[in-house]
Amino acid sequence: MKTINDFNFKNKKALIRVDFNVPLNENFEVTDTTRIEAAKPTIIKILEDGGSAILMSHLGRPKGVEEKFSLKHIVKSVSNILGVHIKFVENCVGKEAEKAAAELQDGEILLLENLRFHPEEKAGDVGFAEKLSKLGDIYVNDAFGTAHRAHASTTVVAQFFPEDKCFGLLLAKEIESLNAVLNNSKKPVTAIIGGAKVSSKIDVIKNIMDKVDNIIIGGGMAYTFVKVKGGNIGDSICEDDKMDVAQEILNLAKQKNTKIHLPIDVVAADSFSADAKTQICDIYDIPEGWQGLDAGPKTNIGFSYVIAISKTILWNGPIGVFEMKKFAKGTIEMGNAIADATADGAFSLVGGGDSVAAVKQFGFADKVSYVSTGGGAMLEMLEGKTLPGIEAILK
Ligand code: AMP
Repeated sequence: MKTINDFNFKNKKALIRVDFNVPLNENFEVTDTTRIEAAKPTIIKILEDGGSAILMSHLGRPKGVEEKFSLKHIVKSVSNILGVHIKFVENCVGKEAEKAAAELQDGEILLLENLRFHPEEKAGDVGFAEKLSKLGDIYVNDAFGTAHRAHASTTVVAQFFPEDKCFGLLLAKEIESLNAVLNNSKKPVTAIIGGAKVSSKIDVIKNIMDKVDNIIIGGGMAYTFVKVKGGNIGDSICEDDKMDVAQEILNLAKQKNTKIHLPIDVVAADSFSADAKTQICDIYDIPEGWQGLDAGPKTNIGFSYVIAISKTILWNGPIGVFEMKKFAKGTIEMGNAIADATADGAFSLVGGGDSVAAVKQFGFADKVSYVSTGGGAMLEMLEGKTLPGIEAILK
């Protein structure tokens, strides 16, 4: 696996695909700089080698050229974070971009305009990718968030750098972290899979079944499993059309000797709202008119114990409706248990949109081994898929 550490960038122009798809407020100010900070080590190493950096990214989902999606809005923020004044060019291909790239001096950074102002980007157009490739000497992919897309800048462009292409430090770390969980893991390995629906995680559960010792199933998806096992789940979220898959997963786990841990009690609510009435129920005996929205106290103790004895932990998906304070305890206790296990030497990886949001919101981000930056990309890797952006560098 070639990374930027295998290259010396002295007098070289690095064409770097970053993921600067950051949230902006109504004044076009960046409200969460995580993704810019995540790309910093790669950019700085290239500058320190004596090279220059040409940054390309998308922002939002523009239909053609739309001012509000211009990357010019983030120039100040990127300059502040990198500690270098960055240059900006109002197109990502063509004469202007080529001129700006040619004039770039060692130690300088150029940010290109939003790649998605050109429909060819998402279409994975080869001609467009070739135009992009003209701008730099070495192609670096450091955008994990889009590595599952076969777009021009994330995948297709790599073919124009047969020898001179590599992973940035962020993307390399994402791959290594997942490898540390699924392939080079210290046992016991525990995966916590939560979130709303079984349907979105079926392939993940099936793929990790061989690689983990314990699977904790939490959140809304647990109820389909409990119903399959004959429980009365009241009005809890359930996918009746996925009961056969839930059964298949339970059978598979038995065959493979993987332990599936389901909640045993829940915080049930009389409506899906922040001020609902609540009661603690056995998960197999939830009254009609009530729905489970969080793990109950016995479940939290049980899940925490499984985590405490684990040496490798993967967390994807919240344990309850953590967005509402009343139903956040299960998710917080899970975060606490993972933080404690990590302090005791376990390796922990948190990935997938909502669990990352939860980990940040409750202050666990610094207490786990690694927080992934890619939601969809991480899920696809957990499903065992080869991501086109990663494959294009390895080829
Ligand atoms: P996902 O995008 O599939 O990871 O699901 C995340 C969402 O699942 C979060 O917004 C949670 O509020 C929601 N969730 C977790 N537990 C439950 C539950 N018991 N009932 C309904 N939604 C839930």
